[in-house]
Amino acid sequence: MYASILKRHKQIDRFKKKMQFYPMFMWVVVILLDSKAQQTELEWISSPPGGWEEISGLDENYTPIRTYQVCQVMEPNQNNWLRTSWIEKGDAQRIFVELKFTLRDCNSLPGVVGTCKETFNLYYQETDSEVGRNIRENQYVKIDTIAADESFTQGDLGERKMKLNTEVRIIGPLSRRGFYLAFQDVGACIALVSVKVYYKKCWSIIENLATFPDTVTGSEFSSLVEVEGMCVSDAEEEADNAPKMHCSAEGEWLVPIGKCICKAGFHQKGDACEPCGRGFYKSSSQDLQCSRCPAHSYNDREGLWRCDCEDGYYRAHSDPPSVACTRPPSAPQNLVYNINQTTVSLEWSPPADMGGRNDVTYRIMCRRCSWEPEECVPCGGNVGYSPQQAELVDTYVNVVDLLAHANYTFEVEAVNGVSDLSRTQRLFAAVSVATSQAAPSQVSEVIRERVQQRSVQLSWQEPEQPNGVITEYEIKYYEKDQKDRIYSTVKSRSTSATVNNLKPSTAYVFQIRAFTTAGYGTYGPRLEITTKEEASGTTSTIVSSEQNPVIIIAVVAVAGTIILVFMVFGFIIGRRHCGYSKADQEGDEELYFQFKFPGTKTYIDPETYEDPNRAVHQFAKELDASCIKIERVIGAGEFGEVCSGRMKLPGKRDTSVAIKTLKVGYSEKQRRDFLCEASIMGQFDHPNVVHLEGVVTRGKPVMIVIEYMENGSLDAFLRKHDGQFTVIQLVGMLRGIAAGMRYLSDMGYVHRDLAARNILVNSNLVCKVSDFGLSRVIDDDPEAVYTTTGGKIPVRWTAMEAIQYRKFTSASDVWSYGIVMWEVMSYGERPYWDMSNQDVIKAIEEGYRLPAPMDCPPGLHQLMLDCWQKDRADRPKFDQIVGILDKMIRNPNTLKTPLGTCTRPISPLLDQSTPDFTTFRSVGEWLEAIKMERYKDNFTAEGYSSLESVARMSIEDVMSLGITLVGHQKKIMSNIQTMRAQMLNLHGTGIQV
Ligand code: AMP
Repeated sequence: MYASILKRHKQIDRFKKKMQFYPMFMWVVVILLDSKAQQTELEWISSPPGGWEEISGLDENYTPIRTYQVCQVMEPNQNNWLRTSWIEKGDAQRIFVELKFTLRDCNSLPGVVGTCKETFNLYYQETDSEVGRNIRENQYVKIDTIAADESFTQGDLGERKMKLNTEVRIIGPLSRRGFYLAFQDVGACIALVSVKVYYKKCWSIIENLATFPDTVTGSEFSSLVEVEGMCVSDAEEEADNAPKMHCSAEGEWLVPIGKCICKAGFHQKGDACEPCGRGFYKSSSQDLQCSRCPAHSYNDREGLWRCDCEDGYYRAHSDPPSVACTRPPSAPQNLVYNINQTTVSLEWSPPADMGGRNDVTYRIMCRRCSWEPEECVPCGGNVGYSPQQAELVDTYVNVVDLLAHANYTFEVEAVNGVSDLSRTQRLFAAVSVATSQAAPSQVSEVIRERVQQRSVQLSWQEPEQPNGVITEYEIKYYEKDQKDRIYSTVKSRSTSATVNNLKPSTAYVFQIRAFTTAGYGTYGPRLEITTKEEASGTTSTIVSSEQNPVIIIAVVAVAGTIILVFMVFGFIIGRRHCGYSKADQEGDEELYFQFKFPGTKTYIDPETYEDPNRAVHQFAKELDASCIKIERVIGAGEFGEVCSGRMKLPGKRDTSVAIKTLKVGYSEKQRRDFLCEASIMGQFDHPNVVHLEGVVTRGKPVMIVIEYMENGSLDAFLRKHDGQFTVIQLVGMLRGIAAGMRYLSDMGYVHRDLAARNILVNSNLVCKVSDFGLSRVIDDDPEAVYTTTGGKIPVRWTAMEAIQYRKFTSASDVWSYGIVMWEVMSYGERPYWDMSNQDVIKAIEEGYRLPAPMDCPPGLHQLMLDCWQKDRADRPKFDQIVGILDKMIRNPNTLKTPLGTCTRPISPLLDQSTPDFTTFRSVGEWLEAIKMERYKDNFTAEGYSSLESVARMSIEDVMSLGITLVGHQKKIMSNIQTMRAQMLNLHGTGIQV
């Protein structure tokens, strides 16, 4: 047994080494019995009598002790028992028994051979309480046979050499409350000097800031008792690492695991946790030391886990207590912007003060403003930001999908992790921006109205952002499965179209885009439609008859649209100029202008506003007077001087502007009338209409700021450069004016005073229509004279019906445009030279018209004559005029001047009255008389050699001659009709037509 104990000792030693933990504290023993300590008689039970005897003696230190002795070596078969008193075991599980004894060497005793022994046996008996005095041997469990390491002999001199032996034996585990020890002598000579019984405990300790209580060792030699530690005050268990130690059987603390650590705000000092001092903090139990408060923070108490921020400084939620307190950044610097149609690019520099952080990002606040700055509303979700609106890391952003010609304010704010914590005022950089012209946005909502075998009828919504007047839609389509993807296009002026000539049972892909003067928008999403299967036996006749209902539907739809638009916009169109009487706008004229497309932007008469100031601010941007610098006077207007100067808006380049000022001492009405021009001009956005920059109404002088047109008015400019331009250049100018007028008429605006003096020219020879305003502005026109119908009218530029009964329409503007053409082609000649206004009116009424200016291509003069058609319905529309001029520019041959046709000065006015056909001997002569001689060959080639054959011609016949100009077709046709009537009168015979 002892050998096995030894073996276990070795095992445990190896275990300790392996774990690299060594016992840290000496064990504690709890003594249950110590015979030496007892001064009185022990009174153990001895059996049989004469065996063990209690004898008092002295120990090696001469201290009196109680011993038990036996020495029955002479008699064989000895069996002497000695039993201790009952020993209560208490907590003990494993009991140590330490024996001190002397044992006489048998050799030193003469005559004892065979009976003398040199060992004795140790027993124990477990009981829950004391039992009787009888020793029942069989109830005892043997612990060991004890032999002396050293026995003693009788010295030669007769003195005894006492050799004290010490033996320790361990018993356990014990399960009863107590036990007895028993010593069995079998014939030895023994003196039991001391019997000590004890057990071991691990002594209470503090290790790793955990308290481990006194712990009784385990029952087995190899067992370790696991003990959980309790953290000392202000300490806490390390996460998932609760403190534990192991109490070994030897009473040693082994294998400490886990630990406690001082809580936040406390640090370790020895085996305790102490609070951090003032000005220090410890944010986490994981930190070992308290640290000094970081920059811009403080604390005035002990034991804190963090320091408080100074006023105006903050700590972001994600900021650890170890970083300095910080503050919001200052505003971004050097904010500049760039406008590209409806995209505004903003760029800025980082703020001067980043607030002590490196997480600065930027966010953009977009507001759309009416012209009153206080009337700004957030831009909402339709506006896009690239890369994004907030948390911008880089110092730029593109704001897209803004409305064209709108006023925006952008605020760029630098923010960092503490911006939202700060209650101080936001710091940002701001710019006000006005977007410019832009192409329309996508046509995205397309509906397939009707799908046939060979046709598809589509309708769609106007794009969300037309950004101008949509004059046309383009429908692009292709066969889906066609390899080459050859596109076809169809144009439509309304929001529906029928695409014909498709193949049956074929998949087509359709896309639509809108067109304004700013160009085409992008195509909308692809819409795939498969045409219907061709029914067997279907012929092309059936196809066309199928289409008839479609045509009817389309006609009804168009008519319905016209009526609807007429009803909605009728009264707006009726009102043309500020303060102008409504009575003049009655009649059928509205229909003429109601062919506007849905969604077309309509001119709004500022007079319809109760408060005209509101109209100004609705349509004109209020400028800060400090942005405007007047440099010199360039002209005189009705309300004050017209000056040139510079305008510098924040974040924008310095630009040249013209400034119309309101002279001092004006009346409220004058101020209103003066600003009315801005309210009108501000509604327009076209490259050939002079652009309003804004108004200054909050300072003096009140100003209207307009784009600067370097070359001033067209009439003076042409006179200055008489004969210096090519025909193409002149036609280019005319084309521009016509485009501007087309735009104005599409918006429902009638100019009434279109004349070269009211056209401005910039440095690139771009002509722009200007001079908008009250009807009284015409009164102010030096060319305007009083007519019998009341009011002043610039007679030489004005259509007959407008002179006669003030019928001002876009058709009367077309007349004026014809006069402008004449002015341009004659380099600023005065129309009708020095004739009196009365004579001019008379001549016009009699059918006379201005002749072609010198070197004027006949095509252009013909166009002028068309503009001066008596019946205004016969005059071309501005749209057609633009088309005709475009064709001329594309085919410069048509602008070649036939020699000798135009000479200056011109003699009498051309007589536009119908010639008498009886005076003509040939078709050629008749064509010359009606100024259509250029088509002589066309007539001859088609076999129209006699006037009779010509009189039978229909409009289709005329068109088939290759006469493409609508005005010419009309002119020839009206002369043919007259000729036919004259023939009828003359011969009384019918001509079958
Ligand atoms: P108005 O008020 O149009 O009668 O202007 C009087 C004169 O000022 C014109 O005849 C032009 O010579 C000049 N003017 C007006 N507006 C401009 C402008 N935007 N740029 C250059 N000159 C202008």
